Amino acid sequence: MAVTLRALLAVCLGLSVLPPTRAQTPAPASAIDAALAEDIVIGSRVLAEFGVLDGFGHVSARSPTNPNHFLMSRSLAPALVTADDIMEFDLDGNAVDARGRSVFLERFIHSEIYRARPEVMSVVHTHSPGVIPFGVSKVPLQAMFHNAAFLAAGAPVWDIRKEFGETNMLVSDPARGKSLAQMLSDKWVVLMRGHGDVTVGPTVKMAVFRAYYTDVDAKLQSQAIALGGDVNYLTPGEGAKADAINFAVIDRIWNLWKMRVAPGLAK
Ligand SMILES: [Zn+2]
Repeated sequence: MAVTLRALLAVCLGLSVLPPTRAQTPAPASAIDAALAEDIVIGSRVLAEFGVLDGFGHVSARSPTNPNHFLMSRSLAPALVTADDIMEFDLDGNAVDARGRSVFLERFIHSEIYRARPEVMSVVHTHSPGVIPFGVSKVPLQAMFHNAAFLAAGAPVWDIRKEFGETNMLVSDPARGKSLAQMLSDKWVVLMRGHGDVTVGPTVKMAVFRAYYTDVDAKLQSQAIALGGDVNYLTPGEGAKADAINFAVIDRIWNLWKMRVAPGLAK
């Protein structure tokens, strides 16, 4: 009965479920790094501002003090996220200090990638409109230009149906998250058939940058293909060199984006 009630509430709350009700030791609010929480807020709002996220999708960061924990918003539309909405989770997807807040059903995307990729410090999941065609066709997403250089390393497609049959398409448990993380492998991006994509990075800024430029690149690639003839993509070598530059100058575009979505915080 409890499971049925929880499922019913999950439907009512959209892409969210109530957290486990087991007794937990509350963590002090100050345990969440303020600067990191701000990056998650800015990243969420930027991706919403540019149409990469709509009412769904999420940005997370690995905890700087506990590598087995990560931070992400309570279940909320990305454009509405504030620092007070940021929660801490363990790698099983349990909220450390739920306090009755609802959580994202697809938090297992984040938990299982943090478990599989120790060097990844941020994960972004989007339903990016531009990439959907590349998740359902046989045309691989490739790097069109230097800002999307990270795509030159490859962008595999994860098909949930191959391992889990006909589902609701959501990564709503650890097994699905683990399967997705395995397809991501050592890449920066993985597409999800009929769903969206996931980008990862060494910082929130880079993961958000990659989410944004994955969408831009996909739209440009569709245009280039429509022109006809062969398309001359970046090579893996060009991609690696250009991505190093993107990493070095990330603050330039980040501060521009911050000014757009939070003028009071821009430097
Ligand atoms: Zn999703």
